[in-house]
Amino acid sequence: MKTELRTDITVGDICKGFYYNTLEGKGVNGWGGKLVIQPEYQRNYIYENGKDDVAVVDSLLKRYPIGLIYFLKVGEKYEVLDGQQRITSFGRFVTGHLDILDANGMPRKFDPSLHGWLLKTPLTIYICEGEGDDPEAEIKDWFRTINIAGKPLNEQELLNAAYSGPFVTAAKQVFSNSANSNMQKWKRFVAGDEKRQAVLAEALKWVSKGCVRDYLKDHRYNSDITGLMLYFESVIAWIDGVFKDVKDEMCGLEWGRLYEAYHAHPYDPDKVWERVEALYADADNEIVTNRRNIFEYVLGGEIHPELLKIRMFKPEVRRKVYAKQTAAAKAKGVSNCPLCAVGHAANATRIYGFKEMDADHVTAWSKGGDTSEVNCQMLCVTHNRAKGNR
Ligand SMILES: [Zn+2]
Repeated sequence: MKTELRTDITVGDICKGFYYNTLEGKGVNGWGGKLVIQPEYQRNYIYENGKDDVAVVDSLLKRYPIGLIYFLKVGEKYEVLDGQQRITSFGRFVTGHLDILDANGMPRKFDPSLHGWLLKTPLTIYICEGEGDDPEAEIKDWFRTINIAGKPLNEQELLNAAYSGPFVTAAKQVFSNSANSNMQKWKRFVAGDEKRQAVLAEALKWVSKGCVRDYLKDHRYNSDITGLMLYFESVIAWIDGVFKDVKDEMCGLEWGRLYEAYHAHPYDPDKVWERVEALYADADNEIVTNRRNIFEYVLGGEIHPELLKIRMFKPEVRRKVYAKQTAAAKAKGVSNCPLCAVGHAANATRIYGFKEMDADHVTAWSKGGDTSEVNCQMLCVTHNRAKGNR
């Protein structure tokens, strides 16, 4: 990683060729065309509120420093890594797109005779340039070191920065675009905010089988995203084909992995949904305690009940044992958790509420213990977790 601190670049230099896209609300270019002010991985300009943007210009007019700005050098061009909001604000002012308030509270436009000196104000800019094959590691390192104002970039935003190019640009048009008519359909199964790259992250994870970096590295300079799109659409179409309806818990499952594991298997959608509904009923009855895994359990032919975190004792059994155990404990003046009762800690006499206890198999389920009342004892949550044989 090469870094260079520049203090000779002025507001005027950056504003040369500054172009503000009013429609999209973003500063596009500056510094005579060398600078991309809002690279694809950056958030939209959010200072356009007559307050934050005016404050930036006010600071400059009062000769206050506006802080460090970071550029990333990519080939012959530069991208703004941090400072986009500030640059766009003073750029809009200098090009007549932002009014400030004068001493009398009247809006004023940039006036060369009054504000011309502003253009000569030097900025403090760090320029960094990735070296080697792993620009991502370098940039990430760097992001951790510097104190970037506002929200830190998330994993996918960092990847977009590290592998910026025609592929990421084209992919974002589809997967990070809230106006895409498919977005609502996709978000039934993909969790998170598409504007913060959650859908793109998932699409990349699916198509690359988890090797997102390699995939981005291989496709970086290619603007054709057909492979990415087709794979994503196949997964969504497969889910829609196998499951007749949608449950909230289907959002955010590892569909890429499930697709790979099960898409070659034939399913009868009616039967599949019947089983899903039955297991949801078991979940309502607190027997199945992991609803999210119901889908994988059914897809896998119902051979891994551990996925469902089954609570083996029925609620009525648990309540009955609880009542019996608690009455006996109270009569003896000991805790209703038998393991607490034999201890010496403060809990030795504690009476737990029903919700503070879990059912435990006296003889473990794995050793053939059944789910009848005689094999059930209620333990406090801590002791039950310690036994861990639910
Ligand atoms: Zn206990």
